[in-house]
Amino acid sequence: MVKMVCFECGQTNRVPAERLDAGPKCGTCGAALVEGKARELDAETLAKAIRTDEMPLVVDFWAPWCGPCRMMAPEFSKAAGSLKGKARLVKVNTEMHPQAAASFGIRGIPTLIAFAKGREAGRQSGALPAAQIEAFAARAS
Ligand SMILES: [Zn+2]
Repeated sequence: MVKMVCFECGQTNRVPAERLDAGPKCGTCGAALVEGKARELDAETLAKAIRTDEMPLVVDFWAPWCGPCRMMAPEFSKAAGSLKGKARLVKVNTEMHPQAAASFGIRGIPTLIAFAKGREAGRQSGALPAAQIEAFAARAS
């Protein structure tokens, strides 16, 4: 079983590992748990997912005013699709959630942090192409 938080309602779900590719849905709200898309998270859901998720989580700390962040956005989405079932990729808008950026000591954006088993497993600053985001996620998991 793989534990993961629903990004829609925050509920913890347990998904059999062999069903990760079968479009598992949240038992509470029905949202897709493994969708291969980069989803925006708020600080509270992020904290819960870091504590709970047994699938690696890759977080893009970004802001709308940041040019390199906007440049990387389509690459990050592409990587989210390629990594579907292996890692979940999420975005945190540091302008809307400055306390999340502060608690992880984000000094520049974009910054990627990979979390695995409740701990930070890797950190990388600066815009990256999709292939390098995928390599970063693979190193961390
Ligand atoms: Zn849900």
